[in-house]
Amino acid sequence: MRQSRLFAPTLKESPADAEIASHKLLVRGGFMRRVASGIYDFLPLGVRVLRKIERIIREEMNREGAQEVMLPILQPRELWEESGRWSLYGEEMMRLKDRAGRDFGLGPTHEEVITALVRDNIKSYRDLPLNLYQIGAKFRDEVRPRFGLLRAREFVMKDAYSFDRDEKGMRDSYHSMYRAYSRIFDRCGVRWMAVEADTGLIGGDVSHEFMVLAAVGEDRIAHCENCGYAANVNLAGYRRESITGKARPLELVYTPGRRTVEEVSSFLEVEPRYLIKCLMYLVEGKPVAVLVPGDREAGEVKLERALGTPEFRLFNDADWECHPQFVRGFVGPVGLDGAEVLADLSLEGAQGMVCGSNREDHHLVGVEVGRDFKPTRYLDLALVRDGDPCPRCDSSLQVAAGIEVGQIFQLGLKYSQSMGCTYTDEKGQERPVFMGCYGIGVTRLMAAIVEQHHDDKGIRWPLEVAPAHVHIIPLNYEKEERRRAAEGIYRELLESGLEVLLDDREESAGVKFADADLYGIPFRLVLGKVFEESGELELQVRTSGERVIMSPQEAKNWIMEALTGV
Ligand code: ATP
Ligand code: MG
Repeated sequence: MRQSRLFAPTLKESPADAEIASHKLLVRGGFMRRVASGIYDFLPLGVRVLRKIERIIREEMNREGAQEVMLPILQPRELWEESGRWSLYGEEMMRLKDRAGRDFGLGPTHEEVITALVRDNIKSYRDLPLNLYQIGAKFRDEVRPRFGLLRAREFVMKDAYSFDRDEKGMRDSYHSMYRAYSRIFDRCGVRWMAVEADTGLIGGDVSHEFMVLAAVGEDRIAHCENCGYAANVNLAGYRRESITGKARPLELVYTPGRRTVEEVSSFLEVEPRYLIKCLMYLVEGKPVAVLVPGDREAGEVKLERALGTPEFRLFNDADWECHPQFVRGFVGPVGLDGAEVLADLSLEGAQGMVCGSNREDHHLVGVEVGRDFKPTRYLDLALVRDGDPCPRCDSSLQVAAGIEVGQIFQLGLKYSQSMGCTYTDEKGQERPVFMGCYGIGVTRLMAAIVEQHHDDKGIRWPLEVAPAHVHIIPLNYEKEERRRAAEGIYRELLESGLEVLLDDREESAGVKFADADLYGIPFRLVLGKVFEESGELELQVRTSGERVIMSPQEAKNWIMEALTGV
């Protein structure tokens, strides 16, 4: 590539809407441009990086026996009605009508299309197992598109779907994808972690998310360095320690106008953890009281799992009015009528607690759980915090921020049952297919790589995903013999199979180096003063900042060696 002809315009300033490094640097480095909120153009260098990531993904998917297909973005409503997701998916799906008024959606994911394809084209156990994948555009009308490629409305995803005869087959497919993902993220040069995850709108029972550790990540991961336990904080467990507040007899105390945990805790001079927070939820139309210690939050994902339905919400003003028996601000589990009571595991046997009394302006102190009231169930409801005890060993958990670059699911029979995807077994009996699905956010991964590999001047691409291997930077390019020498090295490196960018512009050293920093190509060969004196050039390593003077031949060998195994 000749830089004079390259369409990769760099910018001195970051775009006004860019808040994070990857967004700023990918735009400034001429890798991408914004078209509209959450929608981007990819320029030639951006496409080169994307194709490299895709190549790694293809190689590793193929290695596990997955086969590539291409499925349509435009999907008919009827298929989504079969799974029940036409209404469930809500506003995140972009919808449109054709000229005859028929409804279509732009695929946010492809379970429906692929299940129909496989259902209509497999017959017997001999056709299974099967693993099909594609790499292509997905559309999601996100509430808040932001952070550039991290949360876009049109983005590239690799999605794969496995079809197996039975549960064991499904688990094997899942593990094979887990292995493929591990290699993919390793090869992309990121520090990552697989964590236990919720299945959300996709469904199924078992799921892992692959997280790239980065401060800007929107996800929070709880992990234990000692035993390796790792889970998304929205469902991570932690070992509960018994809670024993000040021993005192059960007593009604006057707490005028003190409604919140903070107000009650400072008024009674009791630490928040000795309070029982009683949250009123409306679950499928019925009131449910959810109890957690006063210093903890109840997790909505944990709650959804405990309740077995996504149809619940915290009481709103109208709900409080509809249920006057619950005294807002003073509601508590002792003597509570007309609501199921779910308590966090940590409250089992808790003593010396403070809670609402169901009487205006009063709380109860000296409450003992189990003695003064019995919850319907004890469940894992409270959210984990940094430093909590690990649920699997004696160590403690750390909470870190991560970017979800992939997620894998054991779907079980969710789609095969609703959509009738079956096969006949050895005995001629019809059985539903066990499915799994596996996504990687390809464009999000590209941004996540940048989040981990940059400095304030630009990107530092890991070798295997870099837009090129070598950047030749001849200074004083207007000099005829400099130009000839650079051309010679350029040709030789190309002939060795290297990907090379030659800065053949008559620009100042400052301009050339600033652009080179933004492009972030791993190896730079600078032809300057030293070259004039001794025929040697300066090899600069973008990642380490290392600079070594050597002959062009030595530089070539150095780079070829770094590339072995890539
Ligand atoms: P998130 O929780 O971040 O919204 P998700 O769990 O809805 O993501 P999946 O349905 O698991 O996403 O999709 C598979 C992968 O696609 C994700 O792991 C992520 O890497 C990527 N992805 C999802 N939504 C977006 C988006 N809006 N922009 C870019 N990549 C995305
Ligand atoms: Mg996900």
